[in-house]
Amino acid sequence: MIRFDSVTKRYPDGTTAVDGLSFEVGEGELVTLVGPSGCGKTTTMMMVNRLIDPTHGRISVDGADIAGVDPVQLRRRMGYVIQQTGLFPHRTVLDNTATVPFLTGWKKAKARERAAELLDLVGLDPGVYGSRYPEQLSGGQRQRVGVARALAADPPVLLMDEPFGAVDPVVRDRLQKEFLRLQATMHKTVLLVTHDIEEAIRLGDRIAVYGAGRIEQYDTPAGVLGAP
Ligand code: ADP
Ligand code: ADP
Repeated sequence: MIRFDSVTKRYPDGTTAVDGLSFEVGEGELVTLVGPSGCGKTTTMMMVNRLIDPTHGRISVDGADIAGVDPVQLRRRMGYVIQQTGLFPHRTVLDNTATVPFLTGWKKAKARERAAELLDLVGLDPGVYGSRYPEQLSGGQRQRVGVARALAADPPVLLMDEPFGAVDPVVRDRLQKEFLRLQATMHKTVLLVTHDIEEAIRLGDRIAVYGAGRIEQYDTPAGVLGAP
């Protein structure tokens, strides 16, 4: 479904963020990208929805080279979840969640109805939380809204950059569990960035372990844990 062939990204200042990446993510597969800060995980993810483009190599989605796909069209098929800052501070939780379907042509009432369903799905009662603003939520609740919003257009692909990063370990544990439960019914193709190896192993069907700019191991949880 998503395929990297010898992808290199060099930023204008000369930094080589990733160097010769080749890997593949199957349809419905959840792949975690894990490694220390600065090893190229976010760069990898941003190339998938063309927030940035590779310097060399090729990325394809469903067999088509994305260099030839309009970024706006591409992003319609990809929900993007980032840590904290993703929410619009001056819009309610319901409107934050309804924005994407609304922008892609849904009627306002229909978009809000869908947003309410999604909030429910991620464990936020829309009747209680829908009318709040992001700053009136806990960190864990904000991250739930981020996930609901990414799911709003029902994209086949989810790109998640440290989606459970900014909360305490107890909340993180709960969000991870709930996300796994959700994924068991959604079967999205997911790329999830984390610097936490335990999270990577817990969530990933496969795990890409990064060293500086390269994937050093690409394996199942059992493989990464060194089981026979
Ligand atoms: P990670 O997500 O693993 O922390 P990044 O992909 O953000 O890593 O960064 C990889 C490398 O590229 C780092 O050395 C980082 O400093 C560098 N980098 C990231 N963005 C830019 C940029 N816009 N310009 C120059 N260098 C960058
Ligand atoms: P979580 O376990 O999701 O991190 P918290 O323990 O942080 O939740 O928050 C518990 C409750 O307090 C939640 O119902 C949340 O909505 C509410 N809350 C947290 N921060 C604020 C705030 N700044 N303003 C209003 N309510 C808040």
